[in-house]
Amino acid sequence: MADIKINRLNKFYGDLHIIKDVDIKIEDKSFTVLVGPSGSGKSTMLRMIAGLEEINSGEISIDDKIVNKLDPKDREIAMVFQSYALYPHMNVFDNMALGLKLKKTPKDEIEKKVHEAAKILQLDDYLDRLPKQLSGGQRQRVAIGRAITRDPKIFLFDEPLSNLDAKLRVEMRRELKKLHQKLKTTMVYVTHDQTEAMTLGTKIALMNNGRIEQYDTPTNIYNNPNSVFVADFVGSPPMNFVKGNIIDENNKKNFLPESAENKFKILIDNKDLISNKTNQVLLGVRPEHIFFKKEHAVRVAKDDNFAEIKVTPILNEYVGHEQIITFDYLGQEVLGKFSSSISIDIGKEIILYIDLNKICFFDQ
Ligand code: ADP
Ligand code: MG
Repeated sequence: MADIKINRLNKFYGDLHIIKDVDIKIEDKSFTVLVGPSGSGKSTMLRMIAGLEEINSGEISIDDKIVNKLDPKDREIAMVFQSYALYPHMNVFDNMALGLKLKKTPKDEIEKKVHEAAKILQLDDYLDRLPKQLSGGQRQRVAIGRAITRDPKIFLFDEPLSNLDAKLRVEMRRELKKLHQKLKTTMVYVTHDQTEAMTLGTKIALMNNGRIEQYDTPTNIYNNPNSVFVADFVGSPPMNFVKGNIIDENNKKNFLPESAENKFKILIDNKDLISNKTNQVLLGVRPEHIFFKKEHAVRVAKDDNFAEIKVTPILNEYVGHEQIITFDYLGQEVLGKFSSSISIDIGKEIILYIDLNKICFFDQ
């Protein structure tokens, strides 16, 4: 069992307030991803959990024991970095065994643990090699292996895949997910990559400028983002934001895109969506919730709750099985994602269908 509770955590570098009153409870056995743009404070958070960075105020507890003053080596944590930090003159076995040797672990136990880890990571055949005789992915696996042999309560990862090329990164991502399923140990993983966060995380903490914007499951982060920042950060291409106003007509709420004629208003039936919204809003809709044919929309939005919008295609980006089309919608750009089998002519006005069950509203 290993959960981490963080209470009102603050970190300053000189006058710079880097981590701002962060509260988070990281659940036992979770794969929790700290994701956010570069400089948002992810590594600082992770290093404070590891004990590598001093805390200015607040508390970190592991299994209900406050660890603020505890030495990194006494926290039963193993950390894996982007730079693999392997010893170049030691072979794979010795690199993986080092932590255990330093702890004066008996030799046969070291043998057993290293071989177990090597088996999990498919490194059995490489134990005699030096790091320079390995590929980037294999080196990263050795670094992970070294963490595994220490039998930690918690694994901390700081962008461990960022130095790998795109294909290997995807493979290693899958390996890490399998590893978590196998070990069932609490893992905290830092990345700036939203796809890594979404695919790996059981929980995601989205960081922005030293604060956690939303801490939630990947599904909720994707479907119910609580801010424009979150909505914009996840999804590729990201959510569309259409500027406009909420207008009342005959006791009904409508959304009217900015500088559009009244006839282009969209009736919003779901009052909860806009109850607390002021006049100036952004209508958020994901590219995959815009449909080319009414049948597609009705099939997905089972209750017929969709809006027709008149748009003009201005750009087509082909990505194999799908295409991303940029449209002009009343002077604003909107992107749609469609199957590549659909043919769409640039410059020719068409009607698209928005699934109104999937839209969000944000204050401008
Ligand atoms: P991330 O990992 O999200 O990219 P970091 O946690 O590394 O962000 O850094 C957060 C902020 O703290 C950045 O603005 C960075 O410049 C600053 N920072 C990090 N380490 C130091 C340091 N040792 N001294 C001063 N500022 C630092
Ligand atoms: Mg970082």
